[in-house]
Amino acid sequence: MSPPAPAAVRDRLRIAIQKSGRLGEPSRALLASCGLDWRESRDRLFCYGESLPVDLLLVRDDDIPGMLAEGVCDLGIVGRNVLAEQAAEREARGLPEAARELFALDFGGCRLDIAIPDAWEWEGPAQLQGKRIATSYPWLLRRWLERQGIDAEVVVLSGSVEIAPRLGQADAVCDLVSSGATLAANQLRPVLTLLESESVLAGAAHAPAGARGRLQEQLLRRMQGVLRLKDSRLLMFQAERSRVPDVLKLLPDADPPTMMQLDGQDTLALQTLCRGTMTWQRLEDLRQAGARGLMVLPVERSLA
Ligand code: ATP
Ligand code: ZN
Repeated sequence: MSPPAPAAVRDRLRIAIQKSGRLGEPSRALLASCGLDWRESRDRLFCYGESLPVDLLLVRDDDIPGMLAEGVCDLGIVGRNVLAEQAAEREARGLPEAARELFALDFGGCRLDIAIPDAWEWEGPAQLQGKRIATSYPWLLRRWLERQGIDAEVVVLSGSVEIAPRLGQADAVCDLVSSGATLAANQLRPVLTLLESESVLAGAAHAPAGARGRLQEQLLRRMQGVLRLKDSRLLMFQAERSRVPDVLKLLPDADPPTMMQLDGQDTLALQTLCRGTMTWQRLEDLRQAGARGLMVLPVERSLA
């Protein structure tokens, strides 16, 4: 255990993100779009927050759940797969929950799949009985096998799992898959999904109190605002009151609209935030349904 940090340091919020790899850049970009910026330290493991007292720790993704558990950081951006693996391990060891998913972040999508050699005919999970399965996610795999009542050998590898069958180390694999190209290149094919994953914002089991807690809440609100606006547009138009229901039927991806009655007329002015792409065809359809003076505007920021 490291000695407690001085009070001044612990007033600052710490967020751990992946130093490089798939999640590094998108994580930084998301935080930057929440108004955070950092004075880079020379080794770039610790970046001191300038505009807000929020510092960045640049680490290996696998270390993030442990850092949350130990209170080294308050928040982390990590794949649900990594978080779930830690949770499965802690559960198996009878330890309390140490980190939790706060919300998904809409990037880094992948699946934790079981994949078998192309040459096998897939007959279902029971086929894995007595087989050797290579994985970097032993706790999730063991838990799944146990629940299925399958007795298989779990071969733990820290990387290059997909070549294990070719090397004779395993019969099948349990690995992360996005496009499936890596599996295919190794004559493997996915047959089962154990977990649907994407990057998530993870927090400690207990949110920090006091100034740090307020800062965390502020940052979470900003992140949710940024996520809410991704691909969103503000749509403004007018329509006769009687035709409004037909127009709104064409906007299932929109928030409930704000409506204003135009003076002395039966026409309403409406505005709503739409999440789907607003193509010309959609605008034509809205017009057909009774919308007039349609305008699509970009939205820069939002705070609930
Ligand atoms: P580190 O050095 O930080 O340990 P790493 O090699 O474990 O890096 P990456 O390969 O960058 O990490 O993967 C980080 C995360 O990206 C994964 O945990 C997963 O959530 C997500 N991801 C998305 N698609 C894939 C994929 N096809 N293969 C592996 N991970 C993926
Ligand atoms: Zn890793």
